[in-house]
This record gives sequence, C-alpha cells and structure tokens, in this order.
Amino acid sequence: KLEGRLIIVAYRLPFKIVQENDHIQLIQNSGGLVSAVLSLAQSQQNAHFQFADKIQWVGYTENTPEELEGQNIENENFRAHPVFIPSELNEHYYEGFCNDLLWPLCHYFPSLAKFEDKYFDSYQAANQLFFEKVRAILQPNDVIWVQDYQLMILPELLRQEFPDHKIGFFFHIPFPSFEIFRLLPTRWRIALINGMLGADVVGFHTNDYVEYFLKAVRMVVGHGNKLHYINLSSRIVKVDAFPISIDYQKFNQAFDDMEVVRYRSDARHSLTEKIIFSVDRLDYSKGLLYRLHGFQRFLENCPEWHGKVSFVMIVVPSRDQIEQYQQMKSDIDQTVGRINALFGKINWQPIIYQYRSLSFEELVGMYTASDVALITPIRDGMNLVCKEYVASRKDLRGVLILSEMAGAAAELGEALIINPTDSQDIAYAIKKGLEMPLDEQTKRMLAMQGRLKEYDVFAWTNDFFTQMIMIEQEQEKLR
Ligand code: UDP
Repeated sequence: KLEGRLIIVAYRLPFKIVQENDHIQLIQNSGGLVSAVLSLAQSQQNAHFQFADKIQWVGYTENTPEELEGQNIENENFRAHPVFIPSELNEHYYEGFCNDLLWPLCHYFPSLAKFEDKYFDSYQAANQLFFEKVRAILQPNDVIWVQDYQLMILPELLRQEFPDHKIGFFFHIPFPSFEIFRLLPTRWRIALINGMLGADVVGFHTNDYVEYFLKAVRMVVGHGNKLHYINLSSRIVKVDAFPISIDYQKFNQAFDDMEVVRYRSDARHSLTEKIIFSVDRLDYSKGLLYRLHGFQRFLENCPEWHGKVSFVMIVVPSRDQIEQYQQMKSDIDQTVGRINALFGKINWQPIIYQYRSLSFEELVGMYTASDVALITPIRDGMNLVCKEYVASRKDLRGVLILSEMAGAAAELGEALIINPTDSQDIAYAIKKGLEMPLDEQTKRMLAMQGRLKEYDVFAWTNDFFTQMIMIEQEQEKLR
C-alpha cells in the first residue's frame, strides 16, 4: 500500500480563486482529470493508497502572488499550491508550446504546429517553476503524480533532485506515431522523452499510444523495453495503458434526479419525435464541421426523416481568444445557418445549435432525452462524453455513434463506429441509429455499460497506483 500524501501536479488548479472582500471563494473547475481526482478525494479511501492528508494540488492560477499572500487555499477535497507564471512567459509556454505546437501535433494537425525557439525555452522555464513549487512543499513519503502534455519535462527535473521519490506521469492526449513525433527538432524531442522517463510509471489511455511512445523512446534515446519495462541502468520505468473513465454510478443514478427528469421531458416535449445530440468543446480535433457535413448528407439521402428529427449540437466555448478557433467558430455558424436554410421549414429547424456550457443536470437531461449521440472527433485522447452518454442510459435505450479516432473506441465496440471524415459513413450511421430496434439498442447498451461499470474512474486510479507499487518491487530487485 502507498502511504503519505498524494501530490497532483497539473497545469491548472482544480478551482478558480475569486477574491471577495476579505476572503477568497473557490469555484470548482470541470474536466476529466478534475472529476477523476475529485472522485478519488471524495471516496476518502483507496484500496492501494492510505492518504496522509488531503490531496495536494500544484497548479497554475491567474491570481497574483499579492492577492493570495498568506491565504490558506483549500476546500474539503484539495489543498492548492499555486504556481504563478508571468503573463508573457505563460503566453509562450501555454498558448505557444502547448497549444500551438504540442496540441496540433499530437492530434495529427502538423500544418497548424508552430515551431518557435522561444516557445521551447518558455516550456522549460515554466516546467522549472512547477518544479520549484513541488520542491518547496515536498515531504519524505509524498507520491507525486504529474499530469499531461504541459509538464512533460517535470518528472526528470524532480527525479534529479529526488531520486527516491515515487513519481507517476500521465499523458492525457494521443501520443502520436513516430512519423509525427519526429517533426520536433532533435533537441526538443530528446528533452521531452527524457523528461517523461523521469517517472516510475508513464501512463497513456490506449495500447496504441503506449506502442507509439515506446517506439519514440527507442528511436530518440535508444532504450528498448521488455514487456513495457524500460531499463535505464540505475532504475526502470513502466509504461502502460490506463483508459481514464468516469464515475459510472453518478451518471447512472442521475437518470432519476428530479431536475434531470424535468430537462429530459422539456426536451422531449418541445422537440421532434427523434433527437440527435452532441456536445464538445470548440476545437478542430472534435470534427464539428465534418459532423455537420455528415448530417447534411443524411438529410439529402433521407427525405422521409425531414420534420421528424432534430440535431441538438452544443459547443462549449473554449480557447476562443485564438484566431484559429474564432475562424472555426465562424465556419460552424455559417454551416449551421446554411443547412437550416436549405432544409428547414416554418415549423421545423433541423439543427438547434448553441454556443454555451451546460449544467450537469442539463447535460444528463440531454443525454437521456436523445435517441442518438453523435460523437465524431478527428482525434481524441479518450473522449469522456461518449462514456457519460452510455453510463447515463439507465433506460438501456439510445444509440452511440462514435469515431474510430477516439481513444474510447477501443472500449466501446458496440457503438456504431464511423470514420469522422466520411460524411456518407456518418449519414448511414445516423439512419441506422434512428431506425435501430429497441432490443438491439438494449443489447449494445448493456455490453458497453458492463465494461464501463467495471473499469470506472476508481479502477483507473487504483490501476495506476497498483503499478506504482509494483514498480517499487521491481526497483528493489535492481538494488
Ligand atoms: N462538460 C462540461 N461542460 C459542459 C459540457 C460538458 O464540463 O457544458 C464536460 C463533459 O461532461 C465531459 C468533459 O466536459 O466530462 C469533456 O471531456 P472529453 O474527454 O469528452 O473532451 P475534452 O474537452 O477533455 O477534450
């Protein structure tokens, strides 16, 4: 069993810190990692980890050091240790290296990637700031779990100074094939790979990402592996797949929540006979335009469905300060307008499009009101929306249409799996989904729910901690 404190290091703190007169207020963020760690914190116990204290969270905040001077920043779940990053540095580090280079590269959009020396220098400098914060709070038994592509070189910085601490690293986005990864300048890719190898356990969502990473390790720094163990002479590193998941019971039980029931019946009564639903952050990796083309193709192919189906497409605002995202949003606005104008009637609008976020109850209300969920990312590390959709269907109804490019497709084979750039494929799946007999819907739902119930978010953390314990035993053998 692991004992001590768990220190999560992620780019962002799990809440926004708002100054109010003489005290601060903490507003919980959402997102896959925050929800996963929150479930861990709230369960208060873990089969493999005896927490010595609240979960400690090291992350960036937009507040200034002066604002937070002397403040104890914690809620019932987390104690926060803010990292302050000067705004120009953050721009080159986060907007630059992370979101203008690593994000497009890892999502197979190399033409959008910007290779700038100052971005990489800032990435190193920012990782150093996170390192200094961890160093300042670290105690002997602490277990450090570093998260995601913003902090790839932090594990090595920590390892150099703390050779005996347990360090985990998790990569939440797709790790690309080597032909993409090698587009990075040599110096950068060496730094990124060696950085990650500072951890004891390096985790990814799927076996494909694990294989691509192992190949990058072999090609870039020359280390082979045996059964996913990389031998670095002084220590070994375990690389493995841990598909992140959701709190299955929370979504399943929400089906009967009063507010959810109200949202569901509102949607059912105010919309057409059948409802198609999608929800994503605004991002080029989500395949929003291709999805609209697929829906248009469906309307062209199937006039018998006109007036009987509505596509509710929710896009959650994200990164819309960046020009590329603004352009994408305006393309989506125009395409929705064009399709609605082309096919709509006085009493029927094919696409109901909203650019906003939803509350948990509205979200589950829509998941459970819809006949088809249309989740078609061009690339997605995992995609939790599709898992939430399946988990919330306590009624065992509904059809999931899912892109083969989502990490989740490896676990949800009973979905209608499509290629997200193939509008004919999408159109055909929509028709098939809308016409699928109830018993077949139930059969597919049951199979997918069985898998999600078993490997939920608690299993995800347990699995990772188990590997952290096992690697310690392997390290012992080396000594
Ligand atoms: N979500 C949200 N606000 C909304 C709608 C959805 O926070 O208005 C949540 C959703 O429940 C899911 C997450 O955002 O847990 C999206 O995760 P996913 O892995 O699908 O995509 P990501 O945005 O991380 O790329």
